[in-house]
Amino acid sequence: MSEIEATTSNAESTSQDCEKEFLEPEAKRRKTTAPTDAKKYKLEERLGGILCCTVCLDLPKAAVYQCSNGHLMCAGCFTHLLADASFRDETSTCPTCRIEICKSTAIRNLAVENAVSELPTECQFCNEQFPRNSLDRHEEEECEERVSGCKFHRIGCPWRGPFHEKTNHEQECGHPNKSGTDVMKALQELDQKMVEERKLYKAIFELLGYAKITFNDIQLKPYRNDDCVNRLTYESSRFSVLGHQWLVRAKVTDNQNEATKTVERNITYQLVLKSIISTTLSLSYIVLCGPVGDIKVHPRVYRFDFTEHENETPYESFPLLDSAECNRLLAAKMINFRLVMFLTSK
Ligand SMILES: [Zn+2]
Ligand SMILES: [Zn+2]
Ligand SMILES: [Zn+2]
Ligand SMILES: [Zn+2]
Repeated sequence: MSEIEATTSNAESTSQDCEKEFLEPEAKRRKTTAPTDAKKYKLEERLGGILCCTVCLDLPKAAVYQCSNGHLMCAGCFTHLLADASFRDETSTCPTCRIEICKSTAIRNLAVENAVSELPTECQFCNEQFPRNSLDRHEEEECEERVSGCKFHRIGCPWRGPFHEKTNHEQECGHPNKSGTDVMKALQELDQKMVEERKLYKAIFELLGYAKITFNDIQLKPYRNDDCVNRLTYESSRFSVLGHQWLVRAKVTDNQNEATKTVERNITYQLVLKSIISTTLSLSYIVLCGPVGDIKVHPRVYRFDFTEHENETPYESFPLLDSAECNRLLAAKMINFRLVMFLTSK
């Protein structure tokens, strides 16, 4: 599927009934219909429709590029466009006007980058509006509603709650008065976590000593089956690495948590080898954020032996921080990340 086909089919499907299934946020649907009615929409909404990426229709979070006719693209879509064209051995073109694009002819647009960073966006804890460029600081350090833990969590206090209740809780917290024996259990759990972490780092450092290491910046696009039964799935374009062709698939899974009656949402992904091989290919791989990505991940190493008959890894968990991070990713159209692959040489 070419770039332009992919975008049009997305735009068309917004009108279909099944779209509601796919959790398109309110703001996104408005954006795709390009708000122009000055009375009905606020200035920031109208600007959002103008400054968004022409491919994914999201407001760019990092660098913004433009073709020589001025069509805007976010860094993720731009990188993907170049990578996809080079895989097909074609010259890359602007998805809007078809003019040729390459790294040297495309230019950054700092005015748009700065304008976007001034547009308001909502704090996920208190729902108030803040300029994009100050939201991270607000959510991490200033918001009174942000989730925080008790200062005695190291000795086993499980309390988590809004920041403004933290002081009250800590004054009443029973954990400081617990006996050494009670505290030991919590400390042992901490030790266990440390051991696991050290194992992970050791594994990563070992992988870095491999002879064949490659990394690719991948863009996952929503991929809709004709039957709306299937929930939202994602697929990357094919890419060529280690002498073979690959792609990545991802899907959203909802786990009903019986205890809390809440829905735990998660994204899982699989790596697919599209080339035919005759000898076993032992591969380790890790997902990272990457330079144009916007995902918060805990690195996790997966390993798989590709053979003549086994060309798809199982669906593994995208190592996201939590369910909220997952929902944030789903609200954006594309998912950008870096895939690092390590080949065991034999
Ligand atoms: Zn984009
Ligand atoms: Zn253009
Ligand atoms: Zn807030
Ligand atoms: Zn406590």
